[in-house]
Amino acid sequence: MRACARSPATEVAKQAILILIDGLTPSMFEATDAPTLRFLLESGDYRRAVSTFPSLTPVCLASVATGGHGDVHGIPHLVWWNRDEQRLVEYGSSFAALIAAGLGRGIRDTIVNLNERHLLRSAETMYEALEDAGLTTAAINITTYRGRTRHSSLVPGLPPVHGPKHFFFYSVYESDRTGAPVAWRNRAGGSIDAYAGQVGRWLVTRDAFDLLVFYLPDYDYASHALGPNAAHDALVRADAAIAALVEAAGGRDEFLERYAVVLCSDHGQSRIERVVKLRSDGMLVTASNRAAMVYGDDRRALAASFDEEPSVDVAMFLEDDALVARRGGDEDLALLDGFPDGRARAEAALRNPNAGEVLVSAARGWEFADLAGRSHLGGGSHGSLSAEDSEVPMLTIGFDAPPASITELKALFLRHFGVAVARAA
Ligand SMILES: [Zn+2]
Repeated sequence: MRACARSPATEVAKQAILILIDGLTPSMFEATDAPTLRFLLESGDYRRAVSTFPSLTPVCLASVATGGHGDVHGIPHLVWWNRDEQRLVEYGSSFAALIAAGLGRGIRDTIVNLNERHLLRSAETMYEALEDAGLTTAAINITTYRGRTRHSSLVPGLPPVHGPKHFFFYSVYESDRTGAPVAWRNRAGGSIDAYAGQVGRWLVTRDAFDLLVFYLPDYDYASHALGPNAAHDALVRADAAIAALVEAAGGRDEFLERYAVVLCSDHGQSRIERVVKLRSDGMLVTASNRAAMVYGDDRRALAASFDEEPSVDVAMFLEDDALVARRGGDEDLALLDGFPDGRARAEAALRNPNAGEVLVSAARGWEFADLAGRSHLGGGSHGSLSAEDSEVPMLTIGFDAPPASITELKALFLRHFGVAVARAA
């Protein structure tokens, strides 16, 4: 039955690894002299590609997993208003913001509900598509992981979730005993990426997967603090985690002999010089990093309330089902043409059923304080339509060509394994 679901090409497809370094900018990757990253860059095909909007990790990783923008997957922002449940959802803009939203519920939303409830059922993840075709998928630490296998939590009180067959999530869910130490023991020191390296080594040594999604979040964490293109130490630690996979395969040649590889990030980052707590009179604003959403009825009036607001670059809404972009009182879709894939990304974000009626992209250098008033002033942030926030490095080794968008990764892997691309790709 499994053989029928896959074309003959599947039999010769190499196993594949997606290495995703959160927040890595193209310029930082292109200039790196970290040895494993440099080796990979010189071994493959490279381009700059585009993220989704808002260019924020939960939205981006949902796009990677489902092959669509927010209109397909339903994850609208780091913080949003859940109309069905009449409450805020906060995925951890900052720890203080999680507390402001209610710590227990915030953790549950971030770890469990994002996948089990918020990610639209109509969107199929690449884990679901590949496992339905008889392939084995594995994922380490990626926050959008929905799959077919039920995993119990190692932490009392957290419910089971459904992930890839081999699933490792910050020492909270672990499908296999690998001997890796607890992921959270020293975040600033890179313990999460080190955990990924140890688990990845275990998986490679056992030849345990067809596709491994190897997610390294510590770079983004450091880059938020230090600013874009400055987190060199964190990149060296990411390099070490990737080197653990290479060593486990028996060396560089053996690694590329055995695996087709994609290396990319989910979004970029830009420097933050000013912060504002964005408000719109009497309306609910959900803001974090460099994007905001406003919930209310009179869309044009909501957008117009930001005409004089220097932190707002563009406000967007749908009117009679058509996209409108507004800046300083002017309405012109050409305002979006200064951004990579601007019109398509803005429209897809607005067509997300969980999005606010108005979406806001921050002006250069500005950040919107989160629920708890926290920001990354003096450091780096992302979320806007701008090229700095939206462009990502995209490297492929063993594929035809690197895709132009993170939304094309799912289809790339399905094609690689000879699995029909059913929907949302
Ligand atoms: Zn970030």
